Amino acid sequence: MFPQLIVDVAKIRENAETLVQHGRSQGISIVGVTKGFAAIPAIAQALVDSGVEALADSRIENLERLGAMPLPKLLLRLPSPSRAAETVRLADASLNSELDTVRALSAAARAAGKPHRVILMVELGDRREGVPAESAVDAARAMAGLPGIRLAGVGANFTCFGGVIPTAESLGTLVEIGQAMEKACGAESMTISGGSSSSFYLLENGELPRGITSLRLGEVILLGRETAFGRKVDHLHDDAFTLRAEVIELQTKESLPAGPTGGDAFGESRSFRDRGKRLRALIALGRQDAAPEYLVPRLAGAEILGASSDHLVLDISDAPGTWRVGDVLEFGIAYGALLSLSNAACVEKILIGR
Ligand SMILES: *Cc1c(COP(=O)(O)O)cnc(C)c1O
Repeated sequence: MFPQLIVDVAKIRENAETLVQHGRSQGISIVGVTKGFAAIPAIAQALVDSGVEALADSRIENLERLGAMPLPKLLLRLPSPSRAAETVRLADASLNSELDTVRALSAAARAAGKPHRVILMVELGDRREGVPAESAVDAARAMAGLPGIRLAGVGANFTCFGGVIPTAESLGTLVEIGQAMEKACGAESMTISGGSSSSFYLLENGELPRGITSLRLGEVILLGRETAFGRKVDHLHDDAFTLRAEVIELQTKESLPAGPTGGDAFGESRSFRDRGKRLRALIALGRQDAAPEYLVPRLAGAEILGASSDHLVLDISDAPGTWRVGDVLEFGIAYGALLSLSNAACVEKILIGR
């Protein structure tokens, strides 16, 4: 059945091993982030085998899927107060910025007889989650005093909302905040979680400030790309995922639409270049599965023209070979497509290299 998402689990394991070794050489442990592949357990196993210290996901449903994995589990998205009990049951730790939520976690932890570890998120410029730096120590003190809660560390997030790139300077601030928290709360050996694949370049260049203890890595493990500059990382595979989809029409058409034009299926108006008659392939894959801007045809000369809900339109006039309806085309994918394809019910996932 198509579309298929082919996942080379061996390549993911090799990437994770390379990154775990790299981190170890600088005293950094790696938390393996599973949301990119919807926490499919057989893929998560590759991360476990590579030596990551914990598994992390933004969704409770995904953490539940990882239940049998023999590693601590971290909830990445701030817990919803309404789901405090599930958070405590399915996650050993969570990232937090709201005292009211941590109070709910405290009550749930006491009721379950299971302590819960809290990592306080500090806002360092990207303007998504986190308390302001100047109130971090007070927030930490309040959280640390709650029964059933263990203040386990401090963290920050970058390059997710504001597009702000982490630097040695901003992560140095995070280390200082962590040290002030340790002093204020009498805690020792706290986790100082220095961000995601956008912080990887600092590890790569040996520029992570001393004191950072861990990174939460998803994309660089899965796609072999760091996300501060979108660069492929040396010695990592960037082709662990391949999308395969079927050609359902091959026709030569004028490149310009004919007739009065309004918006497309999504209300967007588009412009087209007149290239005369072109051979087009219609593929059985649409925006419901993956946004076309995150797909890269592996067929040289093929160009994606656009997509509607269920159709992808390609110009294959310049591609070698002769094509027939029913042929299968392959695509490399970027992170935006990986998230949606992994979660799409009608995309078959095929795991190889296990
Ligand atoms: C998704 C996520 C990560 C991992 O991000 P990558 O860019 O895939 O490495 C890290 N931290 C948080 C809070 C996240 O939501």
